[in-house]
Amino acid sequence: MKFTGRITLLLISILVSIIESFSEPTTIWSIFEAILFAAIAAFLGWVYDNAIYYKNKAEISESRLSNLLKLSPEPIMVYQDEKIVFVNDKFEELVDSSTGDILGKSINHFVLPEYHPTVRQRFNDMIQGNKSLDRVEIKIISSNHNILDIEISSAPILYNDKPAIEVFLRDVTKRNKLSEEVRKNTELYRFITENTTDLISFLNPNGEYEYLSPSSKDLLDFYPEEMIGKNLSEFLHPGEIEKVIALLLEADEELDFAAFSHRTKKKDGSYMWMETNARTIRKNSRKLEGIVAVSRDITERLEKEEKLHEANVMLRYISNMDGLTGIPNRRYFDEKLQEEWKRLKRNSSPFSAIMIDIDFFKKYNDFNGHQAGDECLRLIASVLKDTVRRPGDFAARYGGEEFVILLPETDAQGAVHVAELLQANVRDLNIPYLSNVLEPIVSISIGCSTLIPDERTKPEELIKLADKELYKAKESRRNQLIFNQLSHLA
Ligand code: GH3
Ligand code: MG
Ligand code: MG
Repeated sequence: MKFTGRITLLLISILVSIIESFSEPTTIWSIFEAILFAAIAAFLGWVYDNAIYYKNKAEISESRLSNLLKLSPEPIMVYQDEKIVFVNDKFEELVDSSTGDILGKSINHFVLPEYHPTVRQRFNDMIQGNKSLDRVEIKIISSNHNILDIEISSAPILYNDKPAIEVFLRDVTKRNKLSEEVRKNTELYRFITENTTDLISFLNPNGEYEYLSPSSKDLLDFYPEEMIGKNLSEFLHPGEIEKVIALLLEADEELDFAAFSHRTKKKDGSYMWMETNARTIRKNSRKLEGIVAVSRDITERLEKEEKLHEANVMLRYISNMDGLTGIPNRRYFDEKLQEEWKRLKRNSSPFSAIMIDIDFFKKYNDFNGHQAGDECLRLIASVLKDTVRRPGDFAARYGGEEFVILLPETDAQGAVHVAELLQANVRDLNIPYLSNVLEPIVSISIGCSTLIPDERTKPEELIKLADKELYKAKESRRNQLIFNQLSHLA
């Protein structure tokens, strides 16, 4: 009740006035005295009422404050006379101790020694009324020996009617650790990007350069600043713009990684072959934020690859060709026979072979010398090569003075036609034997065979048959053409 004091004193003063009026005759002075007395009583009552009102109010706000501190999500303590006099639950959690163990201790009990001066300075400043104090960071140690980074802020308060310092603490250990990691990573990435010989770049979703490593100067002769803000397509060879733009569009949707080769323009207008590995960077929503790319000069590698390729082609040529005649050798022939056999088996097409042997060649050598023999072999090989002209026809040196011709998709009639043509063309070479015991000019004997490749027969069968017929031709008279065709396959 706010008016209790005033009403009580007023009633007392009225009562005193009434008693007085009975003892004395009523005068103006006694009325005035009574009024004055009542007014003084009312004033004293007012003073009393106010004192009671503010006392209650203070009691209410102090308990409310205490509750608020208890409920605070951050650790709080109150420091008074060099002692901790109040802590909330969060502070207990922070230092891993109970209130009973904490109260009465100096704050330095929890602060690492090197931070004691910081804390002392802070509290002194506070006591001297310096209110605009920034937050300070200290390290504390909990009872389970965890060292924590703590940010403190403080404010002067009255606690139990005496000056005290209210201290708010915030555990920033995780935040500090995180920012330390970010700092280390940033340093690491900066070191890598600034020292790599590769070109590291970052492109925004429009394909414009936002970052380039300093290596752009060494590789392309452009300083990064000369390329930043420009579109990637300005630096691509016209032959690859479409391909790279298509990749960028795909990156906008789904594609997360791409590796490709392309030419990049240098400052002098020439192009450099580069190999790029690109990766997308996306927001949580998968929306494209940019593309990070690492590009490498592959000019030297391509030159080496080109040379290696040329060497391989040469090696393959050497291993497949006959050194003397320049036509395919036996090794290449064996490979071709298998290959064509498989192909023709699938199509059930006829496959013909012609075996050729030079007549009396031993004697030719004997009369004309080995060099002339070689030249004769070369001449006959070139006739073979020129006589078979259809794509797929294949003439090879089988060994010594024997040759072989494969005629895919050619029936017996076609093979005989080619064989007759061969014999005529060799005759037309008109190479004399230079011996009166032999025929006047060099001739060849031929054995032909035709098969339709199937599961039951092997490719070697075709050659064996042609060889058999060749043998027959030799047996009869030489300079002959003998033809064999298996009745069930023709
Ligand atoms: P035939 O009429 O029965 O075929 O008798 P031929 O003498 O041709 O057959 P033979 O198999 O008896 O002799 C083949 C000769 O071919 C033996 C060898 O002197 C000769 N010859 C094989 N390879 C070469 C070569 O690379 N260069 C030369 N100059 N001669 C070769
Ligand atoms: Mg022979
Ligand atoms: Mg011979």
